[in-house]
Amino acid sequence: MTFSPRHLEALRLISDTFAPGDGGSIPPASAVGAPEFALELAGTNPRKAELDQLRTLLRLWDTRFLGFLLTGRPRKFSRLSQAQREAVLLSLSDSRLAPKRALFAALKGACLAPYYIVGGPVLWDSIGYPGPPGVLPDAPDPTLKPEHVTQNETIICDVVVVGSGAGGGTAAAVLAAAGLDVVILEAGEYHDDRDFDGSERTGFSQLYAGSPGVTSEGQVQLVAGRGLGGGTVVNYTTSFPTPDHVRAEWAALGTPQFLTSEYDDAMAAVNTRLGVNKDHPGAGVRDQVLERGAQALGWSVDAMPRNVIGCDQGIECGRCGMGCRIGAKQSVTKTWLVDATDNGARIYVGARARTVTVENGRAVGVTAVSPNGDVLTVKSRAVVVAAGAIQTPALLQRSGLENPNIGRHLRLHPATGLFGLMPEPVNPWEGAMQARYVNEWTDLNGDGYGVLFETAPMTPAFGSGFVNWRGGTEHLARMQELKNMLVVAIIVRDKGPGGTVKVGKDGEAVVNYRLSPGDTELLMKGFEGAARIAEAAGATRIISPHHRTMAYEPGRNGNLETFMTQIRAEGAAPARLALAALHIMGSARMGGSPDLSALNPDGETWEVKDLVVADGSCFPTASGVNPMISIESIAYMNAKRLAARLT
Ligand SMILES: Cc1cc2nc3c(=O)[nH]c(=O)nc-3n(C[C@H](O)[C@H](O)[C@H](O)COP(=O)(O)OP(=O)(O)OC[C@H]3O[C@@H](n4cnc5c(N)ncnc54)[C@H](O)[C@@H]3O)c2cc1C
Repeated sequence: MTFSPRHLEALRLISDTFAPGDGGSIPPASAVGAPEFALELAGTNPRKAELDQLRTLLRLWDTRFLGFLLTGRPRKFSRLSQAQREAVLLSLSDSRLAPKRALFAALKGACLAPYYIVGGPVLWDSIGYPGPPGVLPDAPDPTLKPEHVTQNETIICDVVVVGSGAGGGTAAAVLAAAGLDVVILEAGEYHDDRDFDGSERTGFSQLYAGSPGVTSEGQVQLVAGRGLGGGTVVNYTTSFPTPDHVRAEWAALGTPQFLTSEYDDAMAAVNTRLGVNKDHPGAGVRDQVLERGAQALGWSVDAMPRNVIGCDQGIECGRCGMGCRIGAKQSVTKTWLVDATDNGARIYVGARARTVTVENGRAVGVTAVSPNGDVLTVKSRAVVVAAGAIQTPALLQRSGLENPNIGRHLRLHPATGLFGLMPEPVNPWEGAMQARYVNEWTDLNGDGYGVLFETAPMTPAFGSGFVNWRGGTEHLARMQELKNMLVVAIIVRDKGPGGTVKVGKDGEAVVNYRLSPGDTELLMKGFEGAARIAEAAGATRIISPHHRTMAYEPGRNGNLETFMTQIRAEGAAPARLALAALHIMGSARMGGSPDLSALNPDGETWEVKDLVVADGSCFPTASGVNPMISIESIAYMNAKRLAARLT
């Protein structure tokens, strides 16, 4: 057994401190099984060292020894009152030491997200959340028929594609259309319309990559999709083309095709296949309020291009971060993977690539394992790696590639949310995904770097990550305000120098990333811009996502200037505030020389022939806009070039 009753008991104590309920009808975390669910999630972590750390922490948690370390007095946590327990947690949150703050942030996430996921009707009613809608009884049968690895076996093909997300799905379709025999390996499972119930429980446990969940310094939560279709199954359908100034920057780094018709054609093909349109501009309250604020400031605001067909732009769409129940989202499982299999491609799910096989400087296959340990050996003429910008460099490193640019230059578009309390109900879990965007401040210094403002769906568990915690009762009260909250998403185009991905001794990816001073400054400007929008939209209270409470009430208590002074003083050091990365890029970048990049302009590694990368890792720098269209266009282009060489 991964966790013992003693571990569970300790987590119950911590969870009930974070989420004590209201002493009446609203239950505490332990009464709804949140700690059990938290341990179920934690148990899926493939990193043994992290699991061992967690077990040690929980084993020691309720001892005099740890009490002494945390409070200076040898008292067991269970002997403390609720107020004393909260003080212990807050001492971690407010510590000058980043590892202590990171521990607080990890415990907060591990206790509160499960609470709001499994909380049940009484808790959800109290915050105005109607709960998950459940599966649609008339959902169609899944279109794709992937296989599983059930025994050790060897198969042969022309090209094996590792990863089936935005990049892998697109590359597989292009290669199969060229007449090549393609095999796709996907570590996760296949979930389609009839599996989606709109719940955070199903969504987060089945459709999201749990590990690594956060950068090593504890500064940025990493949010990525897992399973057939990767991030395109859970993403918010925002479909921006690569901006011209970004294309010029990429071309200048040694990949001139970004300024030619080759890339234009790739983007056009992607837009057509995904059905990108502006015919679904219906904004929910969340986006209407964002638009109202931006318009009041005279800032540019526009309707989002989206890859949806027949989107309800309402309740369904509000939950589409947990998969689209009505099949409107044109994920790669609805598009490119259908094309690929129509042209004979075979898909294996539950097949995690461990290494690329290299012989005489050429990639000649991949070894993958199933969750049961069965080994699939694929022999091929070429390998396309598209496992996402964290797992791709890890796989290349595990396979013995040594170019130091593999795993460098990681970009994350660090993102956060500023809350504006509105007089009207916003119900942030409803309404079309990201129907509007504000690009007024995307170029703050004349170099193409700045911040993009959007909204994001705030289902309770996801939202609880951005609502700060200063005590159980207060947090519940803040969650009960969520239904009236505008959350302005601030997305920083990070200039870098960026982070790194390395493999640990256990072969798993380790991500290091610190916001540079320049990117921190962009984030600060982002707070200012978001506060301006919220204030102009009529917010009565404006609250930052910092762990310490920072807020003002326009016209009544404080103002933007004092707020910004506070925020700047608090800064953005690790675990001072909630930051997340939904756009993970650049960790095996394309470029003109092996000194500066991991891949050549064909997307092929400089060191190993016939080993091509086709995912977010390829970006020479951050895209500055939501990256799906850019990823698919690069994958399309790199796959076309590979197909031309192989056929
Ligand atoms: C919640 C959310 C919302 C988003 N919203 C938007 C949006 O609205 N618009 C937009 O442009 N972008 C959005 N993004 C980002 C976008 O979806 C991603 O950038 C994109 O999916 C990344 O594509 P990729 O091919 O690099 O990797 P992914 O799509 O993540 O695909 C990688 C796949 O590889 C698999 N894999 C990993 N390791 C292995 C291995 N060793 N062997 C086999 N398979 C492996 C993974 O399970 C995964 O399925 C969002 C992302 C998230 C998480």
